[in-house]
Formats: sequence, structure tokens, C-alpha cells
Amino acid sequence: LDLKNEDLKHLSDLGSGNSGTVSKVLHEKSATTMAKKVVFIDAKPTVRKQILRELQILHECNSKYIVSFYGAYLSEPHICMCMEFMDKTSLDNIYKKWGPVPVDVLGKVIVVVVHGLTYLYDVHRIIHRDVKPSNILVNGQGQIKICDFGVSGELINSIADTFVGTSTYMSPERIQGDQYSVKSDVWSLGISVIELALGRFPFANPAEDSDDEIPEELRGTLSPTKPDGLSQAASRPKRADVGARAGVSLEGSGAQMSILDLLQHIVNEPPPHLPEDSKFPKAMHECIDLCLIKDPSARPSPTDLTVHPYVKESEEKKVDLKAWVDTLV
Ligand code: ADP
Ligand code: MG
Repeated sequence: LDLKNEDLKHLSDLGSGNSGTVSKVLHEKSATTMAKKVVFIDAKPTVRKQILRELQILHECNSKYIVSFYGAYLSEPHICMCMEFMDKTSLDNIYKKWGPVPVDVLGKVIVVVVHGLTYLYDVHRIIHRDVKPSNILVNGQGQIKICDFGVSGELINSIADTFVGTSTYMSPERIQGDQYSVKSDVWSLGISVIELALGRFPFANPAEDSDDEIPEELRGTLSPTKPDGLSQAASRPKRADVGARAGVSLEGSGAQMSILDLLQHIVNEPPPHLPEDSKFPKAMHECIDLCLIKDPSARPSPTDLTVHPYVKESEEKKVDLKAWVDTLV
């Protein structure tokens, strides 16, 4: 497909993130509805052309676990990427509107992310780098797919140069500026699953919430940074990869924890766990605990997780995802 702005009719806005905005568009010549992402980057024309070349790999990323790609083009000074439109949007929107994601659906989410990451790495040597609920999309057929992975090294660099690339889904090793790998994506998966299961971001400030909202077992690990936290300067984030904006309000929780406190908490405190609720099977607890092992050398890779009993079991389980998405209206 030869895509250009004049052939795309704007239908609605879908949202915006750190690096750009996404809208629903109609490609009139092919009668295809698409999601168009406009990436705002401040890069030289040669760099933009390089990014565009690197993005062509997306044409080869074909998997049922991955949102398909229609094409990218320059619309000076921006880069536009057109992808499959997922009409039920992303899992963050879904849980914010309809509450925690049912456990059987979570099993399928884990299957999709584990297999999607395995495909990206085994076939294309791509590390996702941005696993989070807003990058896991759902459509009306009940399909779940991942998007927004880091295919273009130049694009990753340009975004990092232009924006404060802070993500609270970052693994401890990445926060500390160490070498990171596909296993960092596994950490982000663990955090995302807990968020979807709780219906809120797992690192909130429990003191601000009402008592009965926070299960007892979460309180220790999720306590706000203790006063002595600041004295642990030695293990503070080392790199500017981690933008230091203080006083960031954690969305949806009403709690205030500065982004630095939060990142320090991730590095210094025990990892969060799924709530001790009988609706979460033991094998699921074990799987998420593995994802959130702080030492990356002890944490499984996506490939390792494909043979985890919970992942296998969830893969084989019949779950009526179509019936689930039909409730989201
Ligand atoms: P972020 O992922 O950080 O939220 P993005 O710019 O990647 O920021 O996306 C903004 C929003 O657009 C997402 O939260 C998601 O709900 C929506 N979105 C992105 N891609 C698609 C798509 N292919 N189909 C439908 N909605 C999408
Ligand atoms: Mg995104």
C-alpha cells in the first residue's frame, strides 16, 4: 500500500502517548479502517529517512499475536505509521472503564504477550521495550495483540532525545541503566498483569487509599517510599533514561509519589505480587512471581515462559474471548 495523508480520512482520535497521537482513519482507496500514529520527533531529514527504512521490517512482522502494519511515510516533520485498527482499544482503557480483567482473559493476555515477544525475538531479534496495558490491544472478534515495539533503533534514539522516556513498567536493571534484554519485557509483563488484575496500577500509595481497597499482603511491598529510602543514594537510578520529574500523580490512584521515589522503590523494595485471592490459580501466582524476579539472570525469558505450566494451560484452555469483548459496550 502506498500510503499518504491525502488518502486518509480522519474519523476520530484514539489517544495520545509519550511520543505521538493515534487516530482512527479510513484509507478510502482500499476501504480499510486503520489506526494512524503520528510520531513527533525532532530529527534531521536524513535520520527521519533512516527511521523510515528501519520501519520497513514491520512489513515482515506477521503473527497472530502482533498488530499488523500497513505502512509508514513521512509527513514533514512527522513520521506516520499506519496499523491495524483494534476497535476495542487497549487494555488500560478497558480496565479503567470496566474494571479488573477476568482471570481467564488474563491467562490469554499472558499467552499473547509471551508468544508475541518470543516471535519478535526469535525471528527478528527485536526486544519490545514498551510492554504495558496500553500496548496490548483488543478487537471485536476477541483477538488480543501487542503493538508499539521497538523496531527502529534510530526511532528509539530520537524519541529518547526528544522526550523524557520514563516508564513505570521498567525493570530494575533498566532503571539502573544496566544492560537490558528481552527479560526486561518479561518484568513489564508481570507489572501489567498485576495492574489488570487489580484494576489499578500496582505501585500506588496505600496510605492515600481506603484500607479495605488494599489487600493486607500488598501493603508491605507497596508502601510509599519510606523516609530512609532517600538515604539509599547508592542505588539511585544512574541514567537520564529515567527522567526526573517530581510530583507525578499516579493515574487513577489519587496518590502522589514522585517518579524518582517510584523508580527507587522498584529498585530497592521487594517486587509486587498478585493478590492472595483464590480466583488466581497457584500456577498463575508462580508465573507472575517468576516474571518479577528482580535479578534478570534468574528471571525467565519469553521463550522459557512458553513452556511454563500456567502458560501451557492457558493456551489450551477454551476461553470465549468474543463473549467477553461483547460485554465491553
Ligand atoms: P500509549 O501506548 O503510551 O498510550 P500511544 O500513542 O501508543 O500511547 O497510543 C495512544 C492510544 O491510542 C493508546 O492508549 C490506545 O488506546 C490507542 N491505540 C493505539 N494503537 C491503536 C490501534 N492500533 N487500534 C486502536 N487503538 C489504538
Ligand atoms: Mg502505545
